[in-house]
Amino acid sequence: MIFQLAVCFTVGLVIYWIIRRNPKLLRRMFKPGSPLFALGYQLYSKTSVGHHLHQKDLRKARQQYPDGHSVVEVTELNGIRIRPIPFLQDNYAYLVIDTPTNTAVVIDPGDPEVVQYWVEEEGVSLTAIFTTHKHWDHSGGNKALRKLYKKIAVYGSSTDSIPGLTHHVVDGDSIEIGGLRFTTLFTPGHTVGHTAFLLHSPGGDIPDSVFTGDLLFLGGCGRMFEGPASTMLESLDKICGLSESTIIWPGHEYAKDNLEYGSFLEPENPDVLTKYDWVKERRKERLITSPSSVSEERSYNPFLRTSSPSLLQALGIEDMSDANVAANRAKILSELRARKDKYFYKL
Ligand SMILES: [Zn+2]
Repeated sequence: MIFQLAVCFTVGLVIYWIIRRNPKLLRRMFKPGSPLFALGYQLYSKTSVGHHLHQKDLRKARQQYPDGHSVVEVTELNGIRIRPIPFLQDNYAYLVIDTPTNTAVVIDPGDPEVVQYWVEEEGVSLTAIFTTHKHWDHSGGNKALRKLYKKIAVYGSSTDSIPGLTHHVVDGDSIEIGGLRFTTLFTPGHTVGHTAFLLHSPGGDIPDSVFTGDLLFLGGCGRMFEGPASTMLESLDKICGLSESTIIWPGHEYAKDNLEYGSFLEPENPDVLTKYDWVKERRKERLITSPSSVSEERSYNPFLRTSSPSLLQALGIEDMSDANVAANRAKILSELRARKDKYFYKL
């Protein structure tokens, strides 16, 4: 028995040693779509392993970036103040303040410490948490903030196992916090209950804002962990259907990689090249690249351009008749995602 245990331990140690010394091998073993990738996702999203790893990641990132991974700018919109809060390696939470009443909502507070810091710094009364989806980097601060700010409401979809959820929302719900008025947009695909939050502008003379979590990023979209490409496409179409001036606030700082891929796909598209150059300059100084707008994203984000002739040409799709494109947009979306993995993971 002792001999068998010793053999198992030694074999395990050797495998661990080989993997640790071969980042390429590790990347191939856990490549998107592989059984190990799927197992890792289940462990992360459905067990306490994910929470433990999240706490570890928070401690590491707070040491690495004591002032956050990016330098942010605060946006003032007619009595609404939006403060992006950087945390972990590339996440953004958002503190949305109704300045006349000093009440505030926080969106996706994955790090409760940094959110508490900004609530105190801004001197506002935090009354609600909006959670786009269950992943720990978006929901990991919910319970700690509920302990700190008693009776705070937590909004999100109950289909998504969100920690501390108090208010289940469905598509098209209206939420009013102080003078802030939101509409919920059910946008599954990344997770089964992913929800975006649309903030209406007071008076209507300035654009609305939409907080897109891991559905839509500057130049990219989230992984389709819990739904087919057709579901993700419907969710992306919902954002595309908003007014062109709508301001987009994504959950991550992914713009540089996304636009590198976008310019690789469409090297003739001046919109993607111009934005990529701008983003590269911003990131030299670690400056935030958000927000963008619906009209901007439609001009360079490949995942919103599944019916664009120039993108289809770049993908080598021959039959570009309207009927063929409409019938195959989900397949095109899936192909775009797979090619992105190949591009970055060198699969
Ligand atoms: Zn996520």
